[in-house]
Amino acid sequence: MKPAPFTYHRPQSLNEALGLIAQLDNYKIIAGGQSLMPMMNFRFLMPDHVIDINLIKELSGITKEGNQLRIGAMTRQHAIHTSAIVQEAAPLITEAYSLVSHRQIRNRGTYGGSLCHLDPSSEQPCFTAALDGVIEVASQEGRREVPIAQWTAMYMTPDLASNEIMLGAKLNIWPVTHGWSFMEYARRHGDYAIVGVAVLVNLTKDSRIEKVSITLCGVDAAPVRLNMSETSLINQVADDAAIEVVMTEIENIPNIMEDALNTADYRRHLAKSLTRRAMNAAIVRAKQRNS
Ligand SMILES: Cc1cc2nc3c(=O)[nH]c(=O)nc-3n(C[C@H](O)[C@H](O)[C@H](O)COP(=O)(O)OP(=O)(O)OC[C@H]3O[C@@H](n4cnc5c(N)ncnc54)[C@H](O)[C@@H]3O)c2cc1C
Repeated sequence: MKPAPFTYHRPQSLNEALGLIAQLDNYKIIAGGQSLMPMMNFRFLMPDHVIDINLIKELSGITKEGNQLRIGAMTRQHAIHTSAIVQEAAPLITEAYSLVSHRQIRNRGTYGGSLCHLDPSSEQPCFTAALDGVIEVASQEGRREVPIAQWTAMYMTPDLASNEIMLGAKLNIWPVTHGWSFMEYARRHGDYAIVGVAVLVNLTKDSRIEKVSITLCGVDAAPVRLNMSETSLINQVADDAAIEVVMTEIENIPNIMEDALNTADYRRHLAKSLTRRAMNAAIVRAKQRNS
């Protein structure tokens, strides 16, 4: 299949792009095109206008600003995966990108494209939630920030008005002593995860949990932060008993999504076994970095 006819626009600046989306009806923004083009080719989407934001330089880049990492929406996934700044500040992200699709797709695909496409199984909203990301968006009326917990308006639909463009996101940097792990189960390497988990943990010198972040993808429309476990694990010794607290919260997650191939029970089972493994791996790394 080929896409339905459309008019192609290539703005040179953010202001020009914001002007176009304010005046055009039935448009789609194209970033890396890795999700949009298949949907247009299958004619799931038939926009009258396609607005290519690839020439807008200010939308790309990775910077460290104080205790935060900022990733521009148009930053290619390959650039993030291979970034020394990211590897040092947030190794969870580097590990997550080793599981994201294939090199050819990461070469074109962008961070912002993934956050706006918002596939529930994607690693990218998941690590953004794990790192308490705040998403920056702009329209001609101004700019606003959306915490990742409020970013999913509904299934595969971000909290983005029709006159807004995502600019990037700010992610919290954890202490250098923290441990991390991103694990997932996918049918083939490079496929979207059926279920994935991101774990961050920081320990005290006597191996008690000082701070922990546990996030699942592939279980609901939005990434699921296990907030109750995160709170109750503070000051607990990082051992098997602590991990069992998390299993109880996973057991009680309501309405886990399912499809023709993967039942809710199967996803819950994956969530438990992956979280158990990822917590162990993150704790081992935290102990190594603490010693
Ligand atoms: C075979 C295959 C395997 C894949 N496997 C994985 C995987 O394992 N994990 C994973 O996370 N992803 C996977 N992907 C998806 C990949 O990460 C895409 O690159 C990503 O979902 C979309 O990024 P993009 O830059 O290509 O966006 P596009 O396809 O260009 O756009 C996607 C959507 O976001 C909107 N959009 C893009 N940028 C902006 C912006 N700045 N502001 C507002 N709206 C915007 C577009 O209008 C469109 O609706 C896979 C894709 C393929 C084809």
